[in-house]
Amino acid sequence: MDDDSVSGRLLDSAVRRRTLIAALGVGVGAGVLGNASPALAAVAGWSNPTLGTLTSGYKTPSRPTHTGWDVANNQGTPVYATADGTVRDVKTNSYPGDTTSGPLAGRTGNSVHLNHADSYFSYYGHLHRVLVSVGQQVSCGQLIGLMGNTGNSSGPHLHFEIHRPRLTSTDPRVLLANRGITLGATAPVGSTGYPSVSQGASGWVPRVVQYLVRARGISVVVDGVFGPGCASAVRSFQSSRGLYADGVVGPITWTALVLPLREGNSGDLVRGLQTALNARGASLIVDGGFGSVTATAVRSFQSRNGLVADGLVGPVTWSVLV
Ligand SMILES: [Zn+2]
Repeated sequence: MDDDSVSGRLLDSAVRRRTLIAALGVGVGAGVLGNASPALAAVAGWSNPTLGTLTSGYKTPSRPTHTGWDVANNQGTPVYATADGTVRDVKTNSYPGDTTSGPLAGRTGNSVHLNHADSYFSYYGHLHRVLVSVGQQVSCGQLIGLMGNTGNSSGPHLHFEIHRPRLTSTDPRVLLANRGITLGATAPVGSTGYPSVSQGASGWVPRVVQYLVRARGISVVVDGVFGPGCASAVRSFQSSRGLYADGVVGPITWTALVLPLREGNSGDLVRGLQTALNARGASLIVDGGFGSVTATAVRSFQSRNGLVADGLVGPVTWSVLV
């Protein structure tokens, strides 16, 4: 499996919807689906961090100091925040003996450390690329990096730890299982439900893509026509993020393009949001200002789609919007 096989997948809207609901039902539950059935035992606000095969466990007899789980997949597989939080630390070329983030921190190459509410802490090691920076706020299910083979590693995998409090590790597979999530297998929050958009497409979805690409400082004409120039701009964006540069906006590229938005934000990301909201029934002026009118439109959209109507546009709201 490679990036291409995922990002190039074309899902019709019915399948997308089913996939999304399945993912939300298993992985998120009551917090996102307003009236979730009691059979859904999942706890809101947590996500499987990546897809792959479990290759090494938490504090096994042969590796008693291994304080996380290893999930293996191809280099470049997306890695997502397991919960809302703040980027506490990003390490590149971390060094042997560095234990500031846990006993394995100095051996796990490029890594991301997130602080979460309630003294939770999560840690993602061996990354190929880190896609967040220190101090950045991240949403549950937000793309934070790409799986890799950096540090003391013999093949691409994610080394994943959860601590509570920090430096007191807990078995992340058990923690997620208690929240209805199967580590490595449950669709990560916000990773499903995106359409695949490529050259030849036209309309509001390509227009949203163009705003989101332009928001990253890449020059592209916002005309709603996914022509060669748009494909070239998408490839530039993909290259800049370490993604497979095929010019197709599939689920992985979408998760890299969208960023959490809230009232007070401004710019082309907000123009993309306003364009999508208008396509979903709102009547906003596409001015790039996320004010109270846009916030009301977001909450209305969220209510109509069974999402928590908090006015915050995170990965789940984005994935349902487009
Ligand atoms: Zn490991």
